[in-house]
Amino acid sequence: MSALEPVIGLEVHAQLATRTKLFCGCETRYGAPPNTQVCPICLGYPGALPVPNEQAIELAVRAGLALGCTIGRASRFDRKSYFYPDLPKGYQISQLDLPINEGGELRVGERVIGLERAHLEEDAAKSQHVGSQTRVDFNRGGVPLLEIVSKPELRSPAEAEAYLRELRLVLMTIGVNDGNLEEGSFRCDANISLRPVGSETFGTRVEIKNVNSFRFVRLALEAEIARQKVVLGSGGTVERETRSWDESSQKTVAMRGKEAAADYRYFPDPDLPAIALTDAQVEAWRDAMPELPAARHRRWLDAGLTDYDAGVLGQHPATAAYFDAVCAASAMSAKKVANFIQSEVLGHIATDGLDATLPVPADALAELLDLLDADTIHGQAAKKVFGLMVEEGLGAKALVQREGLAQETDEGAIEASVRAVLEAHPDQVAQYREGKTKMIGFFVGQVMKASKGKANPKAVKAIAERLLEPN
Ligand SMILES: [Zn+2]
Repeated sequence: MSALEPVIGLEVHAQLATRTKLFCGCETRYGAPPNTQVCPICLGYPGALPVPNEQAIELAVRAGLALGCTIGRASRFDRKSYFYPDLPKGYQISQLDLPINEGGELRVGERVIGLERAHLEEDAAKSQHVGSQTRVDFNRGGVPLLEIVSKPELRSPAEAEAYLRELRLVLMTIGVNDGNLEEGSFRCDANISLRPVGSETFGTRVEIKNVNSFRFVRLALEAEIARQKVVLGSGGTVERETRSWDESSQKTVAMRGKEAAADYRYFPDPDLPAIALTDAQVEAWRDAMPELPAARHRRWLDAGLTDYDAGVLGQHPATAAYFDAVCAASAMSAKKVANFIQSEVLGHIATDGLDATLPVPADALAELLDLLDADTIHGQAAKKVFGLMVEEGLGAKALVQREGLAQETDEGAIEASVRAVLEAHPDQVAQYREGKTKMIGFFVGQVMKASKGKANPKAVKAIAERLLEPN
């Protein structure tokens, strides 16, 4: 059998970061007691009339603009009918023929992955199975979602994982989604099939439902590729079905087969008018678009950061903004700022959704880094001062003075210390002059020790080398 290649498409459900639901004024706050954020509209009472949430529409369009979609100037809501206890109306309001965003693309590393669409829909409620009971929490019913459907252009599980990470970062950067996987704000279904390399037709695809971590998406796809290879390799055929990822066995397991494939009887929702958008509105949102992660990454590489640095600092929009603010306020090079933030500061930054708690303000960190950059303090002292700044909330200059951490830069004083060390160690001086020039580290160390770390090590080394030259 010829070699097989995976064909992967992803459907992401991203919760739009609105205060209220898609068609009513109920709040969307996560973790509220069950059934406390509900009303006749989101509980599907007969005769209740939905009213579209303008903020949800704006966020959906902003996502579409960031993803290069064509924005529908007259998109429409449709009813997707099916029965389930978490769907009291008997239908979900979604978009079929006229989605708010069509087409688009997402750059993932060197590849550009095409998008089919990114449409609005409401979330269903949440069922919870407790013993023999099933309980339904309707707080989540009616929460606004953007369903972003990729073309089947991903070719490996690792690429699928990278796509999800990049998509999440883009949506967080524009403030459309809080990226919180644990709370279900960003969920993914994956479609996967195999076909012979070079073939243009698709194999039978399997859908893997609701995988809630990026790592699990990769593992589930890897397991599913292995399973399908075994089926096809033994002359069998892959069934079109829905499977789920079982973490304990590290396998995908069948959920429901083809016989359950539903006809949703989509039709336009008669209670909801078309969403009309003017060019002026769309262009105003486009103009307000912040710098996107890919452009920021390139800008940072041009400023001297490594690909790794840029990846780490760009992981969260708040960290990225913090790094840019420190660079803007400091004379230090971007690369040195990046090094200090990665080694000393990142561990103190706590993020929660789009929010972040920063240990010290950007201008306070810039003040410290400028002292380091001007050789007023050395690296070890800067780390100590940073720790004190975090603990005490005081400024760098005040702490350097209080702790007596400013480096000795007076050449005369340093020279006197070096002379004292050389006089105290005649044997080592003799060894150095006989050619063991590595001894220089010993002399610098002794001077640093005598000065309690305050002497400028570069100046100490230069002066010691001068004084050690044969007379
Ligand atoms: Zn409601």
